[in-house]
Amino acid sequence: MAKFRTLDDLGDVNGKVALVRVDLNLPMQDGAVTDDTRVRASAPTILDLCAKGAKVLLLAHFGRPKGERVSTQSLSMVVDAVQSVIGKEVMFVPEIAGPVVAQSVGILRPGDVAILENTRFWKGEEKNDPELARAIAENGDFYVNDAFSAAHRAHATTEGLAHVLPAYAGRSMQAELEALEKALGNPQRPVAAVVGGAKVSSKLDVLKHLVTQVDHLIIGGGMANTFLAASDVDVGKSLCEHDLKPTAVEILETADKSGCTVHLPYDVVVAKEFAANPASLRTCAVHEVAADEMILDVGPQAVEALADVLKTCRTLVWNGPLGAFETEPFDHATVSLAKVAAALTAEGSLVSVAGGGDTVAALNHAGAADDFSYISTAGGAFLEWMEGKELPGVAALHKD
Ligand code: ADP
Ligand code: MG
Repeated sequence: MAKFRTLDDLGDVNGKVALVRVDLNLPMQDGAVTDDTRVRASAPTILDLCAKGAKVLLLAHFGRPKGERVSTQSLSMVVDAVQSVIGKEVMFVPEIAGPVVAQSVGILRPGDVAILENTRFWKGEEKNDPELARAIAENGDFYVNDAFSAAHRAHATTEGLAHVLPAYAGRSMQAELEALEKALGNPQRPVAAVVGGAKVSSKLDVLKHLVTQVDHLIIGGGMANTFLAASDVDVGKSLCEHDLKPTAVEILETADKSGCTVHLPYDVVVAKEFAANPASLRTCAVHEVAADEMILDVGPQAVEALADVLKTCRTLVWNGPLGAFETEPFDHATVSLAKVAAALTAEGSLVSVAGGGDTVAALNHAGAADDFSYISTAGGAFLEWMEGKELPGVAALHKD
């Protein structure tokens, strides 16, 4: 199935120089890394290459310095975090190409690791300048891309390098691509998709693509309100994009033609004010929402019906919470359905893949994340993949 080369396809790389694109765009506060999840994701690739005796040069971007050296965005700040995750000393090199990198390579021994400077300090990175890719490649023998989260961008270190050096998918990239292939590329059917979140406008292309791919589309969150409104339901003060009603109708029509069943809530949790446990909280049928109420979660009956849908499915892909889950009790639908999906996955009847910043937070909040088959932490790249787009960083690995 793998149409790309992985670290298993590397021959003897002892003493060879690996240029490894990773995601080190770490959340920081007061100069300290607050979450090292992304480093841990790339550790298997780094350590595998070290064990093979390669000299490992890490390439990554940090923030948006727009082609200038910005001292507060130097990757030197993540050296400690990387050292502590991989349990090895890491050298910092304040360049990405040229003689300084060449000298550093001379100092490194097989199995050593260095972090090169923030790739976005050079204008050619985001322009995907082939000159920059060639200059970087001068100091390397092969290229490994382990940053799925940056693969939706065709930049010199996410795409360009794959054209000038032998290219391989790292372990984390490989795991992500294999999980995504199982979820939408070549899934076991029936397939269900949950799409929630705040707005239809942010996920129009996702919805349009999914209705042609999946058997069941479960729409929740604020975006369900636009679909309900398009079906002539009065959604009161709910978050709703009334101008997108015609688009919602089109999506429903495409679903119908494609044999995709769209599930909209028929009961909902509403309140007059958006606050934790408000006095006006109540559950009602969708056609009973009052003019001064807003829909903040999917209702319990609908959740039960959705659980029954998931029980008939073999594959689930999930992006977007079903309600305003950050505020009690509007997390109930998301938490209950996530628990059902986690249990079905744990018993082996469902492959479940989820992604999206708030989705990951919601699944963690539900205590369901560990039982999902795969959780993608790649925001933009995950959504573009859900839109059915080919990601340039992935496409470049597919060549032979
Ligand atoms: P992700 O980051 O996983 O892609 P989104 O950013 O699209 O998800 O959406 C998450 C946001 O949607 C959350 O902040 C949540 O509070 C909000 N949301 C979900 N349901 C509703 C609703 N009924 N009304 C208002 N906001 C909602
Ligand atoms: Mg979000």
